[in-house]
Amino acid sequence: MARRIYFDNNATTRMRTEVIEAVMPCFDRYFGNASSMHLFGQEASGILDQSRTEVAGLVGAETDEIVFTSGGTESDNMAIRGFINPYLRKGLKPHIITSSIEHPAVLRTCMRLEKEGVEVDYLPCGRDGGVLLSELEGTIGKGTVLVSVMLANNETGVIQPISEISEIVRRHGVIFHVDAVQGVGKIPVNVDRLGVDMLSISAHKFHGPKGIGALYIRRGTPLEPVSSGGHHENGLRPGTENIPAIAGFAAASRISSERIRAEMEYISGLRKKLEEGILERIADVRINGFESERVPNTTSVTVPRIEGEAMALNLSMLGFAVSTGSACATGETDPSHVLIAMGISPVDAQGSLRISLGIENTHDEIDQFLDSFPRVVERLRKLSPIGRDS
Ligand code: PLP
Repeated sequence: MARRIYFDNNATTRMRTEVIEAVMPCFDRYFGNASSMHLFGQEASGILDQSRTEVAGLVGAETDEIVFTSGGTESDNMAIRGFINPYLRKGLKPHIITSSIEHPAVLRTCMRLEKEGVEVDYLPCGRDGGVLLSELEGTIGKGTVLVSVMLANNETGVIQPISEISEIVRRHGVIFHVDAVQGVGKIPVNVDRLGVDMLSISAHKFHGPKGIGALYIRRGTPLEPVSSGGHHENGLRPGTENIPAIAGFAAASRISSERIRAEMEYISGLRKKLEEGILERIADVRINGFESERVPNTTSVTVPRIEGEAMALNLSMLGFAVSTGSACATGETDPSHVLIAMGISPVDAQGSLRISLGIENTHDEIDQFLDSFPRVVERLRKLSPIGRDS
């Protein structure tokens, strides 16, 4: 059988067997609408309640602080829009602070709000991939109402200084939203320890189903619904709840809570081997954010003078699934805004790959990659006009 090795777990993950087992009966036996009063509805609503408790448990939240959404993108939109809309309606000009390395779900929401009169500042990022904390204090002003910074970057895996940001933000009485889509399920996350008011989660990034996520909303945080409809989800997110996906999300959360430490250790071991191998076998290569605290599964590697697309394509032909950046940027020819924000030149940023490991990867797969990758680089460097010149 042809080789198929999956190293793109930041794009999405395979559902665990236990997750599939939790989802299936909800398509069949427990198909009811959780809002219906009869027995079928009650069964579905029981699954909904139980699932909410399990998802809340994963991040140390109270059950009534979790609102189910269709995923990370919707959670980010709901947090930012749902908080800002009331200001706009009152004709006010609120100020948001976010960072230059956010996912498009946050960045583009903020950019659209700018067109509607909101003032937005984008915090710069250092060469190490971390948002510059030193810039925050000077950027917060009287009109600042919301700060939104991600927990772990989807391209580099660099963990951002969330608790430190929270300390500053809280001192100024500002609401703090965190996009934790690439952190939850990879590292322990606790909303109180991080000191956040809102936190976005997506199930498919940690072996749950696609199209389901949640927004944690600390009690008392003023938020209004972005869509109009029924009274579901505490009045914040109308629409019949997706019970199969929610049951799968809950199973993924429960298993992740139980196994996270052991899985982190295993994946860290794989990545250590991968990165040591890359640095040893390929000349003039850089691992972005290498010195920084990162989620254990992500490696962003820059190989100057060759195209990331060409590397990814060649690796794909050999059976390895890696990506050039975030899956959401597929089709874009611009270099990664994250790497550019880190001060990497546009040409070098184009020569970058993201390798994101998962619990199903093995040491043997890393060995196979370390055998193939240097050969791909060597071949492309020989072919590349920029490679030959230098
Ligand atoms: N935020 C981050 C940091 C992400 O990496 C992603 C997905 O790649 C999202 C948000 C969007 O999540 P979803 O795919 O669940 O909409």
